[in-house]
Amino acid sequence: MTEQLAHTPGGAPNRGPREAIYELGGAESTCVLPPELDVPEVVLDEALGGVARTRALSLPHVTELEIMRHYSHLADMNFGVDSGFYPLGSCTMKYNPRVNEDACRLEGFSGVHPLQSTETVQGALELMYRLQEALAEISGLPGVTLQPAAGAHGELTALMCFRAAHTASGDPRKKVVIPDTAHGTNPASVTMCGYDTVTIPSGPDGLVDLAALKAALDTDTAAFMLTNPNTVGLFDPQILEITEAVHAVGAYAYCDGANMNAILGKTRPGDMGFDALHINLHKTFSTPHGGGGPGAGPVCVTPELAEYLPSPIVALLDDGTFVPHDPSRTIGRVRSFFGNFGVLVRAYTYVRALGGEGLTEVAEQAVLSANYLKERLKTAYDLPYDRVCMHEFVLSGGRLKREYGVRTLDVAKRLLDHGFHPPTVYFPQIVDEALMIEPTETEPLSALDAFADALIAIAHEAATHPDTLHSAPHTTPVRRLDEARAAREPILRWTAPEK
Ligand SMILES: *Cc1c(COP(=O)(O)O)cnc(C)c1O
Repeated sequence: MTEQLAHTPGGAPNRGPREAIYELGGAESTCVLPPELDVPEVVLDEALGGVARTRALSLPHVTELEIMRHYSHLADMNFGVDSGFYPLGSCTMKYNPRVNEDACRLEGFSGVHPLQSTETVQGALELMYRLQEALAEISGLPGVTLQPAAGAHGELTALMCFRAAHTASGDPRKKVVIPDTAHGTNPASVTMCGYDTVTIPSGPDGLVDLAALKAALDTDTAAFMLTNPNTVGLFDPQILEITEAVHAVGAYAYCDGANMNAILGKTRPGDMGFDALHINLHKTFSTPHGGGGPGAGPVCVTPELAEYLPSPIVALLDDGTFVPHDPSRTIGRVRSFFGNFGVLVRAYTYVRALGGEGLTEVAEQAVLSANYLKERLKTAYDLPYDRVCMHEFVLSGGRLKREYGVRTLDVAKRLLDHGFHPPTVYFPQIVDEALMIEPTETEPLSALDAFADALIAIAHEAATHPDTLHSAPHTTPVRRLDEARAAREPILRWTAPEK
């Protein structure tokens, strides 16, 4: 591959970093033309009684054009779904339809104040009520709160409801069981809620080991948390036996719904026997994410648990008005006001634009795309669980490591040279040198093929030029970073070079 391409095959523009905005322009550059003074001039320091700063503020001196170029360049260096393929497993980096953005920018939605009286925000409340109804139908769990700000926050919210319900029946419990394929937020939420985590190993098929689960469950178990389909992209066919075993000891079955994209309109967590679920609206229901938010993690629960949901939820009165409503035994607020309302508007727009049939097609296409890629890649890499997958699948780079000393990290870095965002790597931990790939339903066949071609070329390169992989990436604005040091000693502020 030549190193001078303006655009890589994956679509990412290939431009280097530049100066910080403080280093651009000069003392004479300006883009502010203040109007002529039409009030009496005041000397600030005198007017303030001698407390004004003595050294000039170090502000950038740039023209408007320089500002535009600077920020356009930064935007160009960014990588997102809109610039290239982004198969980050478990993150559902689908295209976010622009109509969602139009809807949430409507003045009546973007301009409301959370403290307005309910008569003046009936439209916003109605939208939330209808989204609650849609999520109830999609999940098969009729009690819905839209408050949690993310999936992890939804997990915590549901665990708090479990705790409240167990405590109310005089049976507070101490532990939560999770499989070893769980997303890291699951044990983190368990700890935050004050429970102990009990981890059970998965079976050789990557699914829940029913015997291990039954051995871990007892009358001190508050809940079992499961992602289904799970993080190796497999739907657990024993799900009814699993939730039955959980209920048999009086515990709650929790579904981590981050993988809802695979099952929309096909099956429902409520029908699988789950008592509660969070939905990552920013993943499945298309809000731009990956930059850290805002997102939304609504929680759907059984009627029994609905009375514990955070307050307020939106209710519809007989006279047709929408009102904030406090569930009878609510755990209280988990977030200010009504949650991340803009994300709720985007999700509602997405649901209404696609309808039930469209959402079902999302799941079908997502699963088809994942299986297509899996079949194209399963000989160049190892496929530990060789069955029909759901919306994602996990490959292993173990063979490349054993035979050529090339690690999955090297493969991921080399993908950057091809212009692709790498897949999730080293997760789930039960797969050696894991590559977790989720193409989503929105990628065209040509993108899937280009990605498969790149990964196959990289596997060949591992055999012939392993050093090219060890030192990748070669064409990105910055080369291989010391990720551990970047995490431990982050440099978050620009400082002026010594003069
Ligand atoms: C993304 C994800 C979460 C956490 O969701 P956030 O919205 O990032 O807090 C939990 N579980 C799984 C399986 C996920 O993929």
